[in-house]
Amino acid sequence: MGELAGVGPVRRAQLEAAGVSKIGHLLALLPSRYEDRSRTATADELESSVQEDEPIGVLGTLENVRPVPVRRRGMRLVQGTVVTASGSLKALWFNRPYLAKQVKANQHYRLFGKVRRGRSGLEILNSSVEAIDEDALPEGPDWVPVYGRLGELSPGQVAKLAQAAAERLAAETVPENLPPGLLSRHDLPPLGESLLRLHRPDAGQDAESLHEGRTPFHARLAYGEFLRQQLELARRRQTLESASRRSPLVVDGHLVSRVENWLPFELTGAQRRVVGEVAADLRRERPMWRLVQGDVGCGKTAVSLVALGMALENGFQVAFMAPTELLAEQHAKTLSEHLPAQYRLAVLTGSRTDAQEVRSAVAAGDVDVVVGTHALFQESVRFAKLGLVVIDEQHRFGVGQREKLVGKGEAVDLLVMTATPIPRSLALTLYGDLDVSVIDELPPGRSAVSTRVLTDKSEVSAAIRAEIEDGGQVYYVVPFIESSDEVAGRSIEEAEAELSEHHPHVRMAVVHGRLDAAERDLRMQRFKNAESDLLLATTVIEVGVDVANASLMVIESAERFGLSQLHQLRGRVGRGSRRSQCLALSEVESSRERLEIFERSSDGFAIAEADLERRGPGDVLGTRQSGQPWFRFANPVRDLVWLTRAREDARELIEAGGSVASRPSRDRRE
Ligand code: ADP
Ligand code: MG
Repeated sequence: MGELAGVGPVRRAQLEAAGVSKIGHLLALLPSRYEDRSRTATADELESSVQEDEPIGVLGTLENVRPVPVRRRGMRLVQGTVVTASGSLKALWFNRPYLAKQVKANQHYRLFGKVRRGRSGLEILNSSVEAIDEDALPEGPDWVPVYGRLGELSPGQVAKLAQAAAERLAAETVPENLPPGLLSRHDLPPLGESLLRLHRPDAGQDAESLHEGRTPFHARLAYGEFLRQQLELARRRQTLESASRRSPLVVDGHLVSRVENWLPFELTGAQRRVVGEVAADLRRERPMWRLVQGDVGCGKTAVSLVALGMALENGFQVAFMAPTELLAEQHAKTLSEHLPAQYRLAVLTGSRTDAQEVRSAVAAGDVDVVVGTHALFQESVRFAKLGLVVIDEQHRFGVGQREKLVGKGEAVDLLVMTATPIPRSLALTLYGDLDVSVIDELPPGRSAVSTRVLTDKSEVSAAIRAEIEDGGQVYYVVPFIESSDEVAGRSIEEAEAELSEHHPHVRMAVVHGRLDAAERDLRMQRFKNAESDLLLATTVIEVGVDVANASLMVIESAERFGLSQLHQLRGRVGRGSRRSQCLALSEVESSRERLEIFERSSDGFAIAEADLERRGPGDVLGTRQSGQPWFRFANPVRDLVWLTRAREDARELIEAGGSVASRPSRDRRE
C-alpha cells in the first residue's frame, strides 16, 4: 500500500492537484451516499407513481437498442425498450454508443437510473446497465456507492479510482493504527475492513445506518479520529500537570464568604456550586484547569471574580484576558468597582500609552490584577508572582496563546470562560483537556426576552419609538462586516441615514470595528450612561457588554447570523428589570425554520446544538476561521458516544504510559 500504482499521468496530476497522492488518500474519499439497486419497479408500477428525482431499478430484457440521430453535434444518443414483467418503458443513453452493440437479446438486465415522463411515455435516462440472472438476485439491499466530485474529476471517475483502491485493499492488509486492546474493548472492526465495507457495503447492510453514517465501520473511523485528537489534548494536559506541583492554596469557608461579600448580590445556586468546584481545585496540588460555561447573562464574570479573590487573598497576582479592548476595559471597570482598595489593578492593551509602565509594575509585583488583551501574553510581559489566569471567551484565543500566558508563572491556575454555551460534543472537542463547570441558572428577576422574527420593518419603528418614550434604550444591529469584506447588504452608513430620517429626535451612537478602540469605548460609555438612546452597531457589541437599561434589540438581516450569535446578541437585553424584547428582521424565506428555533427557544445550549447540527462549529463559536481541529469522518454530534469513549481511553492511555488492556466494553445501550 502507499503509492498510487496503475494510475496514468493525467489522472495522477489531477489527483495531486486535489491533494490525493497516496492510496490512503483515495480510500479516505468515502462515498457521499449509497444507492440500493435492489429497489426496483415494473413499468406498470412506475406508470402509476413515478418519483422523478429518485433513481430506481428496472428489471427486464432490452429490445431494439439502436443509435438515433440527434441534431446537436458531438452528442450521441442510444435508445431502446425495456420489457419488464408488466409493461415496458423507453430507455435513453447519452454518449454511450457502444451499448447498441453490447446488449444481447434474451438477456435479463437491471437498469438503474432516474425515470421521467417524456412525450411518448415513461423514459429511464442514462441508466447503468447490468446483466443479471433475475432468479439469483440476492435478498436484501444491494448497495452501490456514489461519490462526489473531486477537483477536475467527475463523480464517475472518482468512483472508479476509489473502487480500484478498495479492490487492492481487499487483497492486501492495511496496517491497523489503533491499539488492538481498544478495538476489542469497543467491539470495533479493524481499519482495513472498515474502509472496505464503506466503499463496498455488504449486500445485507441495513439502509438506515448506512445512510446516517452509523454503521460500526463509520464508528471505527470516527473513534480513531477522536482518539488521535483526544490523545493530543491528554498529552498536553499531562505535560503541563507533571511539570507543575505547588503547595495548595488556602481556601476555607471564611475566605470564600469574605470574597463573595465583595459582590453586591448573593450568588445563585449554580454560581455557588461552580465557586465550590473552583475552590476544590485550588486546594489541590495540581493546578486548576477549568472551563466555566453557561448561558449569556448567567453571571460568569461574578464567578471569575470570586476565583480571582481566592488567588489574591493567597498573595498571588492574577492575569485577566479578554478578546477585545472594549471587553478588557469593561471587565477592568467591573473589577475595580468590586475589588477591595488594597488590591491594585492595571490595564494592558495594545492602544494604551502607559504599557511600558504597566509592564514594569507587573514585573515588580506592584500590580495585583492586570486586565488586558492579547498584549498580555507577549514576551515582554513578566510577572512577579502569577497565580491565576482568567480567560474570557476562550475560543477567540488559540491553545498556544493560553499556554504562553499560563507559562508566565509556576503551576499557574487557569480558569477559562466561554461567552457562548457550547454543546457537550463541541466542548469535548475543543476543550477536551479541561474540566468543565456549567452555570445553568440565571440570576433572579430576569424575565425571558420576548422574541419575534419579522419579515418587514413596519413594526420596528413603532417599537423603537415606544421603547425610547418609555425611558429605555435600543440596540440596533446590522450584519455589516469590516470594510475590506465585500459583502452585499446595507452598510452601517445607510442604516444610520435611514434611522435618523425615521427618528429625527433620537440620540444615536454608532459603533463598528473600524473605529479606533478609544473612540468606540467613548461611544459605548455614553450609551451606557444613557447619553444616547439608540446604539447602532455591528457585532462588536456581541460579547459581554452590559447596559441594564437597554431593553429592545433589533437585528437586521438576521439570517446572516448563526443562531448562537443571535442568542448572544439577544443576551444584551433583559439584563435589568425592564421587560425586554428582541426583533429579528429577515426577508429570506429559506432561513425561516432556523430562525424559528431562535424565536421559540431561550436555552443557549439547545440553540447551540441546533446550530452545530445545521451549520457546523464555526457558527456556534461565532468565528468561521477559528482554526480549531475538525474532522474528516467524525461528527461530534452524531458520534458523541464515541467522542466520550475516546476521551476516557486517551486519558487512560496517557496515564498508563501508552499501553492499554482490552476489557469488556461497558455500556452498550447507545
Ligand atoms: P455573563 O458573563 O455570564 O454573560 P455577567 O457575569 O456579565 O454574565 O452577568 C450578567 C449580569 O448579571 C451582570 O450585570 C451581573 O452584575 C449580574 N449578576 C451576576 N450574578 C448575579 C447574581 N447572582 N445576582 C444578581 N445579579 C447578578
Ligand atoms: Mg461575560
